[in-house]
Parts: sequence; C-alpha cells; structure tokens
Amino acid sequence: MTPNADPLAALAGHDHAVMRLNAIADNPPQSIVIEGGDADSRVALALYWAMRLNCASGSVPCGQCPACRQIGAFAFNDLLFFDGREGLIKVDMVRDQRSTWGQPPNGPGRRVTIFAEAQMFMTEAANALLKSLEEPRPGNVFVLAAPQRERLLETLVSRSWVVTLAWPDIRENTPEITEWTTALAGCWQSGRGWFERTSPKGAVDKQLALQIVLGMQRELREALSGSCSTPLSARLVRAYDLTALRRIGLALDQAQDALNTQVPVNPAMVLDWVATRMV
Ligand SMILES: [Zn+2]
Repeated sequence: MTPNADPLAALAGHDHAVMRLNAIADNPPQSIVIEGGDADSRVALALYWAMRLNCASGSVPCGQCPACRQIGAFAFNDLLFFDGREGLIKVDMVRDQRSTWGQPPNGPGRRVTIFAEAQMFMTEAANALLKSLEEPRPGNVFVLAAPQRERLLETLVSRSWVVTLAWPDIRENTPEITEWTTALAGCWQSGRGWFERTSPKGAVDKQLALQIVLGMQRELREALSGSCSTPLSARLVRAYDLTALRRIGLALDQAQDALNTQVPVNPAMVLDWVATRMV
C-alpha cells in the first residue's frame, strides 16, 4: 500500500456492511467476524471498525484526526494487526499479546486486534485466542477476517458478531467453463455426468481446474447474493438452502487452496473430490 492510498478504498460498494458496523459501534461486541468480499475489502472494513471506535469525532471516521490517520497507516498504538497472508498465525504470536489484552487501551477509544485472513490460524493458536476471549478484556475488541466463517474455529465464530461483505460481482464465465460448472452441479444432484469428463488422462490441468473452481465460486456468489443472473446460479438456489450453499463454498475454497499449494496435486482428483462433496 502506498502512503497516500486511501486505506478504505476497497470499501466502495460495501455500504451495507459499513452501516451494520455503525449500528453497533456504541456498544461494540468483544469479537466480530468479517466474511465475504475479498481480502482487501475485509481488511478495509476491519480498519474502518478500528477508526470508528477510536476517531476523535466519536462518530463516523473523519479520516483526518491522528487516530484515523495512524490506523490507516497501521501505526496506531491501540491497533494490533496480524496478517495471515504473510504466513500461519502461530500460538506464540497469540500468547505474546495476552498481557497487553489484560490492560486497558492506551487512548480513550478501544484497542482493536485484527486477524486478517484468520483462516491461517493454527489450531493451537485459535484455541489460545479462544481462551483469551473467555477472560474479561476491558476496552479490547477483536476482529477475525476470513473468506467464510466456516473456515474459522466454530467456537470462535459462535462468540462473535458476524458481518458478511457482499460477494464480488460476477464476471461472466466462458462457455467452456460454464459447461464444466454445469456438469459439476449436475453431478451434485444426480451423481452422474462428471467423472467421464475428468477421467481421461490429461483432461484437466491445474490451470483449467482453477478456472472451473473460480467459475463455480462466481456462480455461488451470484446465488448467495440473491440476484441469480445466470441459469446455473438460479438452479443452485432452487436446489439448495443457505447451509448447503455454504458447504459448497467451503469445498470450493478448500479445492482452491489445494490447487494453489506448491505441493503437487492431481487437479482432476481435486475436482472429483468437490464433485462428491454434495452427493
Ligand atoms: Zn478521525
């Protein structure tokens, strides 16, 4: 991020989520979960929250006071920022902050601890945080940002207030990808029509597999947003309730992670695994 960049720029189009946070700012919950959107918009909303709770105006962030500016520059003494994009969040990183969380904030606002891409918590670290949340932490609030709440420790989510950012706009899938995503959805419903596509040797390389996963994520976002502008997203909404749609989203996230690791995987097997999730 360049020094002059607006730290909240990625919030454009997310007015609804911002309004929801404003509505609870006078009595902030100890912990919130931010899901949906993309990684940048989740971080921006977390920073907005920190500003909202510390701005000298006492109200909607002015963007100009020392607190707003320092938070935007990640240089505020009541802001702790852990970035899962830089690697796993480990137990020592959490334990090291316990004495800080035991103290009230330095300034008149709240100390805000943000875990960006909190799905990168190691289990032990997530449990350590959970333990910390179970003790009174006056003046401290916590933010867990992740693509989907299901990727976080359930007991952390159940203690938190959840805000969902609008899913990014759909960009149309190519006819080739639509053929694949439609076949995948067909397999979820009938158990057929999929494996003959992936079984020929070399039928799916990593690039194609990622495009299919991304294509299905687009359809799913379209379904979850309720606008259903494509035939497949409309079909998903008819076939599945919200819980099932979220399960699909989780499987797609895991498939994307598997395809993106440096460890060699068989792309066709990753897709087949997705195909069997909903049968
Ligand atoms: Zn301000």
